[in-house]
Amino acid sequence: MRPRIGLTASFRYEEPPAHALEDDYVRAVVQAGGLPLLLPNIDGNAHAAGLLASLDGLLLTGGGDVDPACYGQLPQPVLGHVSPERDALELPLALVRALRAHGGDVVTGARVREILVEDGVARGVVTEDGRRFAARQAVVAGLHVRQLFLELIDDRWLDPRLCEAARQVRTGLSEVVLHVALSEPPRYRPEFGLDAVVHCHLPETMADLVAAYAEYRKGHRYPRAPFQIVCHTLLDSRRAPPGGHVLNVGHYAPYELDGRPETWAAIREPLLAEELERVREYVPNVTERTVVGKAIATPLDIAAYNPMFYRGDIMGMAHIPSQDGYLRPFPGISEYRTPIAHLYLTAACTYPGGSISGAPGRNCAMTVLADLGRGGVP
Ligand SMILES: Cc1cc2nc3c(=O)[nH]c(=O)nc-3n(C[C@H](O)[C@H](O)[C@H](O)COP(=O)(O)OP(=O)(O)OC[C@H]3O[C@@H](n4cnc5c(N)ncnc54)[C@H](O)[C@@H]3O)c2cc1C
Repeated sequence: MRPRIGLTASFRYEEPPAHALEDDYVRAVVQAGGLPLLLPNIDGNAHAAGLLASLDGLLLTGGGDVDPACYGQLPQPVLGHVSPERDALELPLALVRALRAHGGDVVTGARVREILVEDGVARGVVTEDGRRFAARQAVVAGLHVRQLFLELIDDRWLDPRLCEAARQVRTGLSEVVLHVALSEPPRYRPEFGLDAVVHCHLPETMADLVAAYAEYRKGHRYPRAPFQIVCHTLLDSRRAPPGGHVLNVGHYAPYELDGRPETWAAIREPLLAEELERVREYVPNVTERTVVGKAIATPLDIAAYNPMFYRGDIMGMAHIPSQDGYLRPFPGISEYRTPIAHLYLTAACTYPGGSISGAPGRNCAMTVLADLGRGGVP
């Protein structure tokens, strides 16, 4: 039997009101071998768990903005179209509601500064604003392994060899990412025939590809770096104001540029102009007339943005044989359990690693459930 894939629908307010979804989503699921099932916008409180239980997979389709009221904020001037009907079902909100219905809570905007350990057992966390949260059953950290063991836990609970292993994890390349908002669709040079393509990899020549990685290894930039251009708005026009489009352009880059990560800060502005010029070679209508917004993130920015992206590695740590699979992040803690009782590690530093897969979280949850004697896998 084909896997049943639930697709969240938009709510259309015309008469009569409709739960609707573009054909592209349905066809994509069929082409990928799934059985698409449209999820109507019914009350997530009452039905999210039941709907999810009947599915093998879930695809949250694109759409308008989440109503800021859902997370206790006032609308901003840039707020687009909202749909309370749809918000009532979407998974993140439904998950929060399900957690709260079971006596749990979700706290955001609060950085954890310490994991509380007593007699070798994880007992809770302390946030930077001094609040203490006690753990009834377990503490699960979706953090970088370095941050967990080198910053958040008192040394006396840790074997120095484990701390050393955390210190030694190796990172891979980082990225330079350019975001460009356009007032019209991107138009590639006609000979490429790429106007309808959402995601293009543009490796130039094989010689450029090889030379670029050789330069990265030495900590240098490569002017004709193999790069990608992604334009999601070609598939989902609701992600930009009417008629507008967004290009996401990126390529790998070393974190330490010419020996120092700070070099990136010094070249950010000229780099933005240079990257735009490069895009223009392929997409000539990216000009002053059409560009309504632009921003660049260098490896230094990516590292500063999120402690998970240690040294700018968007996978947390390198996917190399010595720290992949059963060896991720390193032997001894590669099965989500840590030497501290009731403390678990998940996310990009655990198998199968970085990316938006949900797999480390699912695997870790199964491990926690098994330890609690509630099913899962031993
Ligand atoms: C520019 C860019 C493009 C990418 N493109 C893709 C792509 O196309 N496809 C793909 O699959 N992946 C992509 N990735 C990679 C992907 O985003 C990551 O691998 C993934 O998010 C890792 O998930 P995670 O749960 O391990 O960490 P995260 O998603 O980073 O979650 C960790 C969270 O913990 C929070 N945190 C950190 N420290 C603390 C603390 N002390 N207390 C409380 N909270 C804390 C962080 O703020 C963060 O929200 C991209 C990443 C970047 C930067």
